[in-house]
Amino acid sequence: MGNNNRENLDYFMEEMNCSYAIYPYSLISRERIESLDAVGNDKVVNKKKLISGGFIINRSLAREGHTPFMFLTNCLLDIFKRPLSINPKLMNDEYADLIEQSLLDFYEMVTDERVILDTPLKAVGDKKRDMIKYLNEGRAVEIVLEQFMGSYSKKDAREPEMINDIVNIGTVFHEAFNERLAQARHFYVLTNKGIGTWYCSLGILPLVWCEIKFCIENQIKIKVCPYCGKFYVCPPNNPNKRHCGEQACLYQYNKESRGPNFEAERKSIRVPGRSAGRPKKVVK
Ligand SMILES: [Zn+2]
Repeated sequence: MGNNNRENLDYFMEEMNCSYAIYPYSLISRERIESLDAVGNDKVVNKKKLISGGFIINRSLAREGHTPFMFLTNCLLDIFKRPLSINPKLMNDEYADLIEQSLLDFYEMVTDERVILDTPLKAVGDKKRDMIKYLNEGRAVEIVLEQFMGSYSKKDAREPEMINDIVNIGTVFHEAFNERLAQARHFYVLTNKGIGTWYCSLGILPLVWCEIKFCIENQIKIKVCPYCGKFYVCPPNNPNKRHCGEQACLYQYNKESRGPNFEAERKSIRVPGRSAGRPKKVVK
């Protein structure tokens, strides 16, 4: 089954003139990601460690590999952080260059080639105006994720009136959602878990929107890590997880929630005379 799927995917990508393909996952074990082939067939299922991840194929480099969940989206927003934080009163050449360089950084990071592969939405052929269009697309990604898809806990969950805004996403982000998704193709494969979807495209920006579409359709709640700013998904056993799980962010979280001396305190909590950990079972 695996080989057939792979051959079909290759054929499909060629027929559809697609250079890149992604296969996003939500929550699966690290062992399972490592046991997956490029088509999504898994040989071993081990629930030990829940992480989120995905899979990307780069046909021009004939390369494939595992990526963190929301890999493309996180890369784009990370690289656009600087141009998005600057808001010049008048658009100038310097700012257009900054956006262009940021875009080139993005493509180089995810494809290894320093080439902008996508045209801006409703391109006009004027560099300054087109660069602003790219930037606005990045802003749309940020707004969709932060405003509509993220929630921190039950306490600060969305207000009911937000439902109207969610309905309106189609209007507000019509260009980005509809046009970019129209530039992507779907390829369905049978896996051990059921039907999986490959998203294929000639460029990368359509696949960023496919990552978001995947989260919407699978009702995956996304959160923003308050420490590093990356988007992450909570595991089912900890739906209110407050950080992305990276070592540095976990440390910051512990320091904030338990005080700066949390490491020393943890050691002193132990009851004298009793060894650390669960009491040993008494064998009768
Ligand atoms: Zn983090």
